[in-house]
Amino acid sequence: MRVITFLLLAVTFSPLHAQELLDYQPKILLVTAHPDDDALFSATVWKTTKLLNGIVDLALMTNGEGGYKYSTLGNYIYGKELDKEEIGRAYLPGIRKKELKAGGDIVGIRNYYFFDQQDFYYTLDVEETFEKWDTEPIVERLADIMAKERYDFVFLMLPFKDFHGHHKASAVLGLRAIQTLSVQDRPIALQAFVRRGADDPGVNFTMMEGYPETKVMEGVTFEFDRNQTFGFNDRLTYNIIANWVIAEHKSQGTMQLLMGSNMIEQYWYVESNGEEALDKTKAYFKAVNESQPD
Ligand SMILES: [Zn+2]
Repeated sequence: MRVITFLLLAVTFSPLHAQELLDYQPKILLVTAHPDDDALFSATVWKTTKLLNGIVDLALMTNGEGGYKYSTLGNYIYGKELDKEEIGRAYLPGIRKKELKAGGDIVGIRNYYFFDQQDFYYTLDVEETFEKWDTEPIVERLADIMAKERYDFVFLMLPFKDFHGHHKASAVLGLRAIQTLSVQDRPIALQAFVRRGADDPGVNFTMMEGYPETKVMEGVTFEFDRNQTFGFNDRLTYNIIANWVIAEHKSQGTMQLLMGSNMIEQYWYVESNGEEALDKTKAYFKAVNESQPD
């Protein structure tokens, strides 16, 4: 009798309708620069792993030792003067890997690939970032991971002009790794950013100057609105997921202020994916948008 009860529960708790929405289990690699960057994709990732039976892994470029000046409240959580350079740079890499995994547990991230490049300081300059990072080994390792895991999609950070140079570099390196694969083995590349809501036009992006691999297909973006409602009396929204992830990053001072401020996750379709990968991308985002917790 107990066995029967258990089986019934197991059936009840598996996401219903996932197979009706998508006839495969989507497999995605996130490529980010800093340990809190993946909050950007949090609601889409949560839906992918929890409602669509998908798999999501993360490749993190830096060791996250930068931005220590904002860790003042983290000092009280972790019992160290993290906002002092020497202490912050020494302890934040370990602390932020734990914060990343705590957030990752919420959205269901499976594997983490750490590249441990130095999170040296804030710069808009992508060239300076490339000079300081071991770019060739990064591209090789990323390509090996992609070849082995055969992802359907790679989510990158949108490398727009006013964005952190580390974010821009992570996108370019991810795209270069994809380009080393033979055409039929390439995952579909999407570059993402958030906007505040339906009345916020968001970032206007075509390509990062000097880096044609970042060029996106004109007029083609995909979205997930975290304001979608569900649950009892339709009172719940996916902002809860994003806020939970942000809350895990207690050593990242200013990031906490982003809670509730960005409602729409927006994904730009990289032009080199070609027209032929559009249908698969449309079907995936339709499933992301239509799936609901039971
Ligand atoms: Zn970042």
